Amino acid sequence: MRVLIKGAGIAGLTVAHELATSGAKVEVIDTAAGVGTGASGFAGGMLAPWCERESAPDAVLTLGCRAADWWDAALPGHVAKNGTLVVAPARDEAELRRFAGRTLGFEWLDEDAIASLEPALAGRFRQALFFRNEAHLNPRAALAGLHRKLLGMGVSFCFGVVQDEDPSGFDRIVDCTGRNRIGNTKDLRGVRGEMLHLKTLEVSLSRPVRLLHPRIPLYIVPVATACSWSAPR
Ligand SMILES: Cc1cc2nc3c(=O)[nH]c(=O)nc-3n(C[C@H](O)[C@H](O)[C@H](O)COP(=O)(O)OP(=O)(O)OC[C@H]3O[C@@H](n4cnc5c(N)ncnc54)[C@H](O)[C@@H]3O)c2cc1C
Repeated sequence: MRVLIKGAGIAGLTVAHELATSGAKVEVIDTAAGVGTGASGFAGGMLAPWCERESAPDAVLTLGCRAADWWDAALPGHVAKNGTLVVAPARDEAELRRFAGRTLGFEWLDEDAIASLEPALAGRFRQALFFRNEAHLNPRAALAGLHRKLLGMGVSFCFGVVQDEDPSGFDRIVDCTGRNRIGNTKDLRGVRGEMLHLKTLEVSLSRPVRLLHPRIPLYIVPVATACSWSAPR
């Protein structure tokens, strides 16, 4: 089977991987100059379906709970399976209880347990939710690694391609063009996020930390210092 995948973000590359693994002849095209120039290159890299379940439909959890193992099998060595810590300042502890009531797969931690998991947070929070089964990765490193692996598997890539009409000659065309589909695909909506890349030697975290806040929820995702954070190519 000959398949064309439009879009070389995380969706396009993972679909390409699955189809190529099952024997399809796969070609990937993208209007951009390389992989990960869309949302995927700017994601936090949290594989956090239990936390997402707080506001997402059940399918996000039932499918997402396989993500960390999928990455481990497809690209060994990229996933950190250290869980997620969810915290709130003392005045917003009601937010923690509200969050806990809308999801599952967590345990409550007290101040000592928080300090033993993340020494940099010692003395800062009285309670936390710990989602032990969650994981994270560096999205740009993962995209680059998957791209290299797919090239090795015989998947062909064509970047900088702008086409008004879908080309012929393919048995299937898979549209993974991300936000390009908003407005054309039912139930697909955009969610705006903003990222600050902070380099510091003073604070060291081992896992994503989500700070609950009634108006401005915030999270920190640690990126190993050995990993590059240059613009995606
Ligand atoms: C700041 C931020 C943080 C996030 N953090 C997380 C997180 O921690 N965990 C998580 O799971 N998700 C996170 N997300 C969401 C996640 O990034 C997206 O859901 C995901 O990257 C979408 O991937 P995609 O492949 O569908 O889209 P994209 O990565 O946007 O890829 C779409 C690709 O299609 C290409 N394209 C567009 N039009 C065409 C066309 N006509 N023909 C060919 N190619 C085309 C684009 O150039 C692009 O390369 C975050 C998002 C943001 C913005």
